[in-house]
Amino acid sequence: MENYSPVRYEIRLADAAAHVLEVSCRIEAPHPAGQVVSLPAWIPGSYLVRDYARLILQISAHSGGQPIPLDKTDKSTWRAGPADGPLEIVYQVYAYDLSVRGAYFDTRRAFINGVCVFLQATGAEALPCEVTLRLPEVLPGTDMARWRVATAMTIKSIDGRGFGTYSAADYDELIDHPFEISDFTVERFEAGGVAHEIVLAGRQRADLQRLCKDLPRICETHMRLFDDAPPMDHYKFLVNVVGEGYGGLEHRASSALITRRGDLPEPGREAINKPYRRFLGLVSHEYFHLWNIKRIKPAAFTPFRLEKEAYTTLLWVFEGITSYYDDLALVRSGLITREAYLELLGEMISRVWQTPGRFRQSLADASFDAWVKLYKPDENSANASVSYYTKGSLAALALDLTIRLRSDNRKSLDDVMRALWQRYGKTGRGLEENGFEQLAEEVTGIALAEFFDGAIRGTDDLPLADLLGEFAVNFDLLPLAEGTENGSLPEGESPAAALGVKIRDDRGRAVLATVYEGGAAQAAGLAGGDELLAIDGLRVAPSGYTTLLRQFGPGETVMVSVFRRDELLQFVTVLDAAPVLRCHLELDGAASEDELAALHDWLQVGN
Ligand code: ZN
Repeated sequence: MENYSPVRYEIRLADAAAHVLEVSCRIEAPHPAGQVVSLPAWIPGSYLVRDYARLILQISAHSGGQPIPLDKTDKSTWRAGPADGPLEIVYQVYAYDLSVRGAYFDTRRAFINGVCVFLQATGAEALPCEVTLRLPEVLPGTDMARWRVATAMTIKSIDGRGFGTYSAADYDELIDHPFEISDFTVERFEAGGVAHEIVLAGRQRADLQRLCKDLPRICETHMRLFDDAPPMDHYKFLVNVVGEGYGGLEHRASSALITRRGDLPEPGREAINKPYRRFLGLVSHEYFHLWNIKRIKPAAFTPFRLEKEAYTTLLWVFEGITSYYDDLALVRSGLITREAYLELLGEMISRVWQTPGRFRQSLADASFDAWVKLYKPDENSANASVSYYTKGSLAALALDLTIRLRSDNRKSLDDVMRALWQRYGKTGRGLEENGFEQLAEEVTGIALAEFFDGAIRGTDDLPLADLLGEFAVNFDLLPLAEGTENGSLPEGESPAAALGVKIRDDRGRAVLATVYEGGAAQAAGLAGGDELLAIDGLRVAPSGYTTLLRQFGPGETVMVSVFRRDELLQFVTVLDAAPVLRCHLELDGAASEDELAALHDWLQVGN
């Protein structure tokens, strides 16, 4: 019975000033030939090898109070012992990563992802685990004495502030419940009969009542879609509020979000402005993952093998379809209008249409190569690759509208998602590489091979103009104004010329973030990373770039001056016409009754 004793971890918030956590891992019955332990190389939900073992500062092994040998066998792995009795490994972890994928510890806050701190004992992955969190060493002048703990992990025995012991059924569960430890604000609400909390760390004065009114509508919209009991019995949004930042990571009963202070709702503001809409979209995205990736998972992640890359062509299913339903749920829940939804959709289409790499890389390839492409962007990414988030969300839209059209609105992507949940999510069976396509055909009775050949395995542009036209939406492409936030100019003005670049404002310097394939700048010899100084001898500032460009016409020859590293270079450049790549969507005032009915069925406004 000894073998079934839990693996016990203890975390001490040891040194806030040095950002050091002290962790111990106790294994009651280590392997008699020596116990192998390792830290994951990556965290589920973020497909980049991050080598968390690099965070370990110091590590040693003990048994019966005596030190025993500990040999490092590769970048992430150690072998301890052999030991006669229980084995204890003690280590220090450096924690100063503010992202949702790491561990962080300073005098304001600790945030811990399990992959950073919990050694995995080989052969003991299925054993239950326990974590004891000790009270922090309080530094004078800090609020550390008021710190509390927020996590969705199962409570074993804790004090009023949440310090104490938590438990998990196995290692997989152990690393799927991050900890927020700080003097945070917490509000509670119910959605679908399940207790939810929103935990806000960092300085903020958000309208909490507003959040507790709006968030349940999103949660319940997703629950309604899957038409089953919620897959968890409690849920926590762990939100880190910062000045600048955006991101999220999904977990089985919580999510870690990072958001701009300005994206949270202000007290007294009734309308949902664009920043708050972005926050609601993020919440909606991570919550949809409760089904789509946390439970409906590719076979390649069943089980997770976290020591190296795990390849699948299906990330577009998990991130693209989730990115489609995140904004769709905002309109279906009635939080935003149909017009606001079409604005979001138009922005997404513009982003993809402005990515020439979509003709080079398919969604299946983008998924497979996430590890070396999406997560390792460079100045040529826009020419070489496409995002399975953005184009994936449009492929989901195209698939949804195709199914609706070809089934006379009797079937939709919603039916496919429900079937995925029943067959894969509920059973824990991994989704095979061809499983999504097969299930979509089975559920809808529609032959979809041609769609998947073009949209997923191929690089055809998605037929969105035609499809949306059948749902009372007009699709227009307009000239793009280079250097503006959304590609448009004030009413009545239209862009004429273009360099074929994307500008990044690097502390007041106009740097070429992208030089588009086939554009004027590339033809002249300009390169990504060049600092743009002048056009025809006139100085360029990031804020004045668009205005300056408007002085020239397409076909005109100009001298472009740049710094490449520290060398001043001049390029004779023949300007392009402004590319027609900005999408504008609008409800069709002359739509037929059938088209309007199809639109209503799709967006479900008022439900
Ligand atoms: Zn996601």
